[in-house]
Amino acid sequence: MIHTILRVMTSISSDGRGVDSALDPSAEQIRDMGGRAIEWIAAYQDSIRDLPIAPRTSAAALKELLAEPLPVEGRDFADLLQVFREVVVPGSRHNGHPRFFGYVSAPGTAVAAVADLLASALNANLTAWRSAPAPAELEHLAIDWIKEAIGCDPGAGGLFMSGGSMANFTALAAARHRHCGDTIASDGMAAHPAPLRVYASTETHHSIHKAAALLGIGRTNVREIQVDARFRMDVNALVRAIEDDRTAGAEPFCVVANAGTVVTGAVDPLAEIAEVAREYGLWMHVDACYGGFARLAPSARALFDGLSEADSISLDPHKWLYLPADCGCLIYRDPEAARPAFSLDADYTRVMQTEPAEAFAFWDYGPDLSRRFRALKVWMTLAHAGSRTVSDAIESNLDCARHVAELIDDSVDFELLAPVELSIFCFRYLPPSARAGSRSQADEEQLDRLNERIMVLLQQAGSSYLSNATINGRFALRGCVLNYRTTRRDMQILLDDVRHAAEQAIEETR
Ligand SMILES: *Cc1c(COP(=O)(O)O)cnc(C)c1O
Repeated sequence: MIHTILRVMTSISSDGRGVDSALDPSAEQIRDMGGRAIEWIAAYQDSIRDLPIAPRTSAAALKELLAEPLPVEGRDFADLLQVFREVVVPGSRHNGHPRFFGYVSAPGTAVAAVADLLASALNANLTAWRSAPAPAELEHLAIDWIKEAIGCDPGAGGLFMSGGSMANFTALAAARHRHCGDTIASDGMAAHPAPLRVYASTETHHSIHKAAALLGIGRTNVREIQVDARFRMDVNALVRAIEDDRTAGAEPFCVVANAGTVVTGAVDPLAEIAEVAREYGLWMHVDACYGGFARLAPSARALFDGLSEADSISLDPHKWLYLPADCGCLIYRDPEAARPAFSLDADYTRVMQTEPAEAFAFWDYGPDLSRRFRALKVWMTLAHAGSRTVSDAIESNLDCARHVAELIDDSVDFELLAPVELSIFCFRYLPPSARAGSRSQADEEQLDRLNERIMVLLQQAGSSYLSNATINGRFALRGCVLNYRTTRRDMQILLDDVRHAAEQAIEETR
């Protein structure tokens, strides 16, 4: 009761504001919220190396701490920040820890966190140039810098979106529209009787299959092409598949090449695939979500020859540009070739400007209408760090992966399971007793189980974190170095941590 009266009084006394100060705080209140939040950010960044990487918690425990009915009356920001500090933070996995090697996960940057705060405060909505003139220009600029980083032609263009899955989806939609024209868009799949075919290696990310499913192309119409010993697409097999499909009356329309697969980091032979795409009139899409920015590192650059010939390229600045989620990106070699797939007519999308740069609308190049100001964190991170620092950090990540591969090769208790192409390494613990002589299927299965247990124990211990992969049918411990904080020393600590987990796992079976 007293609480309610006090709140009513605050809202009346709030110098001319029409609503409660929780929605429309004074400058002083904003400074107070911001100060406390920034204080937390600084302390978090400072201590991240010492935190246990993954929380040991459960959904039930978290619900117990968090769940409550929708509050009718609000409470102080300080209270909410306390819940954030005491429940949310300890219940989170710390992806910025230098020995978090799971999946393909960026650490975030402090300047991008601040940029996201500013972007939300400005609340620009980048539907079209007219809605956010300077933010739209900044997005064009950030895209130009990314084009330069990965070696695209000046005529290319693109936009930011939520992530790589959306970028892959959007690229396939553009590719399908170029092949089918407006028929499917207007009358549905039935209007195009011949089955469409997409080609991608067996190592391709599942978001390509998901896109094919959602677009009505069908998952089974993604033909999986076999790979060589380095997990790169076999281009002769690609040509055979295209020829076979044509003979059978199907319509090949798109080939997806990988510039860094998620399992082993393989980069498909891009220039050769581009040649095949040209010869057969296919849209070439490159999924460079994980690997694309490694072109900034001199030691990896040659792998990306041919990338600029792609019709579209998916990238994830929230991976190897180190940005916090979310930030995906799609680049078209010729944006005008993609436009017919997305442009639409509605009163609210009618553009009155006549100057082409001012008539520009992002909605003509992808599925989104409202879009947040992701470009600010891309621009701020790149402009603040400079390309040399980013390139050095990526080179250092590559060096860490090569270093751990050498340590594994030189060890008596580990075995590398795939070549290290970029910053992903796949290996397993192999007790010296299992090393000698040949292994039966049962021995292999036992090794799978042992390594799976090692991974779980490693994750629980909290000092290093690996995820898993299946390599030629075997369970692999898989790591991806994607953090500017990671050093060679961390790679040595990782192997010590894995050894410790292995001892524990073996002890358990005694
Ligand atoms: C991460 C990734 C994706 C999916 O991207 P999201 O941003 O997670 O949606 C697709 N392909 C590759 C190669 C990736 O590494």
